[in-house]
Amino acid sequence: MEEVENVRVVVRVRPMNEAEVQANYENAVEVDSAKGSLSLMPPNKASEPPKVFTFDLVFGPDSKQVDVYNSAARPIVENVLEGYNGTIFAYGQTGTGKTFTMEGDRAVPELRGIIPNSFAHIFGHISRCEDNKNFLVRVSYLEIYNEEVRDLLMKGKRTNLEVRERADIGVYVKDLSAYVVNNADDMDRIMTVGNKNRVVGWTKMNEHSSRSHAIFMITVESSERGVDGQQHVRMGKLNLVDLAGSERQSKTGATGERFKEATKINLSLSTLGNVISSLVDGKSTHIPYRDSKLTRLLMDSLGGNARTVMCANVGPANYNYEETLSTLRYANRAK
Ligand code: ADP
Ligand code: MG
Repeated sequence: MEEVENVRVVVRVRPMNEAEVQANYENAVEVDSAKGSLSLMPPNKASEPPKVFTFDLVFGPDSKQVDVYNSAARPIVENVLEGYNGTIFAYGQTGTGKTFTMEGDRAVPELRGIIPNSFAHIFGHISRCEDNKNFLVRVSYLEIYNEEVRDLLMKGKRTNLEVRERADIGVYVKDLSAYVVNNADDMDRIMTVGNKNRVVGWTKMNEHSSRSHAIFMITVESSERGVDGQQHVRMGKLNLVDLAGSERQSKTGATGERFKEATKINLSLSTLGNVISSLVDGKSTHIPYRDSKLTRLLMDSLGGNARTVMCANVGPANYNYEETLSTLRYANRAK
């Protein structure tokens, strides 16, 4: 029963965009937030009933960033402040709102996504804490592309980094840079630097970002003198993950490098699905963390005392039916 609580799966439906409205696409997704359910209308409505799915939470097209933060992300961040690890994933096909959900528009307060809201939350918490408690907050920003880990805060110098493990600190990336931050603005500036480095060397930013997983990592260490006079140190790690697009790239007839790349993306997303479903299942004796870089890197932040939220993003229009169905099935399996 414990594991079920520690992994939550939520779905977010974005609104129709202007082009979809212009093109008069039919809406294929109906949300019942109160019930946490969602129905997907098949293209041939007359002969097939809608497919109904239930999740921990479902956010409709009118949902606000702050609501998504408060109900899906806040509990994870609270836990990290208490010294546990946590991971929030955005999953879905390209164009469904993964980056909007994770990052949003950082310049507009009400459009800020989970990452900037977590900055404010963490430093808000620290400023309200008693003086006898000290915090050290560090951030790293990396991406996994083609099963290679790349430091986004080191201007392209650090590529193909190794994922390692040590008894005292758990899983870590060798030579990954980490910056101590003192306030939300520091974190925000670091995110901007990382995002710029993400583009360097890639001619088509969109194509690149849809094929790589970006992980913003925040480590919160706190120390406090206990009633026993001893110093007590706690450390929590928060991983904020904007996953590669889930569209089936191998179907587009890619060959050579492109094909290899596509299989690797599919591999890490399918391994992630396998890991999460075996955690939820609770009966599996083998959890396949080692089958992909992504799950290996997040090994100590998935399962155990760690809390995970998987936010599956979908578009509302019926021309995306197949991809939407495949995302909902993936999310349903992770439940
Ligand atoms: P992804 O990262 O999955 O490829 P994006 O986050 O870039 O998708 O979203 C695609 C477009 O849709 C962007 O212009 C984004 O601002 C917009 N969008 C996504 N989700 C929402 C939402 N919930 N409300 C308003 N606009 C959204
Ligand atoms: Mg994106």
